[in-house]
Amino acid sequence: MKKHAIIPIFIPHQGCPNGCVFCNQKTITARKPDIGKDEITTTIETWLSTLVDRPGLETVEIAFFGGSFTGIPMKQQSAYLEIAKRYKSSGLVQKIHLSTRPDYINREILNNLKAFGVDIIELGVQSFDEEVLTASGRGHDSSCIYTASALIHEYDFELGIQLMLGLPTDSPEKCLYSARETVKIKPSLARLYPTVVIQDTALMELYKKRLYTPLTTEEAVSTAKEMYKILTEAGIQIIRVGLKSSDLIREDGEISGHTFHPAFRQLVEGSIAREKMEYLLKRVLSSGNGKVDTKGAPDVCDQNGAACLDASCEEVTFLSSEKWFSNMIGHKGCNKAHFAKTFPHLSIDYKTSQLQDGSIAIAVADGSYFVVK
Ligand code: SF4
Repeated sequence: MKKHAIIPIFIPHQGCPNGCVFCNQKTITARKPDIGKDEITTTIETWLSTLVDRPGLETVEIAFFGGSFTGIPMKQQSAYLEIAKRYKSSGLVQKIHLSTRPDYINREILNNLKAFGVDIIELGVQSFDEEVLTASGRGHDSSCIYTASALIHEYDFELGIQLMLGLPTDSPEKCLYSARETVKIKPSLARLYPTVVIQDTALMELYKKRLYTPLTTEEAVSTAKEMYKILTEAGIQIIRVGLKSSDLIREDGEISGHTFHPAFRQLVEGSIAREKMEYLLKRVLSSGNGKVDTKGAPDVCDQNGAACLDASCEEVTFLSSEKWFSNMIGHKGCNKAHFAKTFPHLSIDYKTSQLQDGSIAIAVADGSYFVVK
């Protein structure tokens, strides 16, 4: 049962005079501009009515997404926030969350957000690489990311960071650099978005002129996987990987290119699970000379006993938490199929266990048991 619910309120493109090459905010949010106060109240009421008596629900959050919230006129920000604050004061909502750009953060803005009880500020950073920022038309350099995040921490807001991969002039190395820089500015939350080519954007024009090549799904998964590992190992919670299908994306309609996948998060987490399973299998299967190859090993915690080196392992069981079971199996069972094909002599079972999300364990017939966190 979900403990956390978000009431999303989209503020499409309002306040944003910028021209990021990938952005058509109207398409993404599927909403018209000029959202009114009544509409906001109705949205909140509608969502709250669906959340009544939901067992186990601990936190309800009102989240202003879509454009650059702190770029809209202060009076309008205050009018929207006043509504959210009313619900927070009444106890029906516990947190107020918004997203904005790094260059729309200053003390005056933060003082106002503080006064209305805002809790979480997400910065659409996208990249820390100067060339990528310029080629993407972001309109600011990386220095304002560090300044804005330091100010957000100084005011004791929770910080979230959005990163994109596959932007113009981007590379896997630049993406990993952005993930490492993200760790340095200490957000508690992050989102990872592969770049998607949307109609009516400058990126679409570049794509049509063959001046931009989107990442393939495989490339996007491979890079997102490494970014995900850097962020989660630093204790950053990744609240989104990839656009969700309700973001109005259809292969035949709003977008072109191949990077959008409706189950992108599962592809990434399934790929991480497979990597851990491969390591664990190496760990328990005979290497032929009785040695275990630990090169490049993930964070391994031996729970019990010795590995069954040189033993004729014929049966193994992979275990994960209930939540990660589908990742362990892989999208459409791809991990299961992979291991069945690669290790035809092995009987492999898949079970859930009381492991933490993301951990994978292997159990073998002699009782040996290993976990990769
Ligand atoms: S700053 Fe945000 S809303 Fe504005 S153009 Fe860029 S991505 Fe779109």
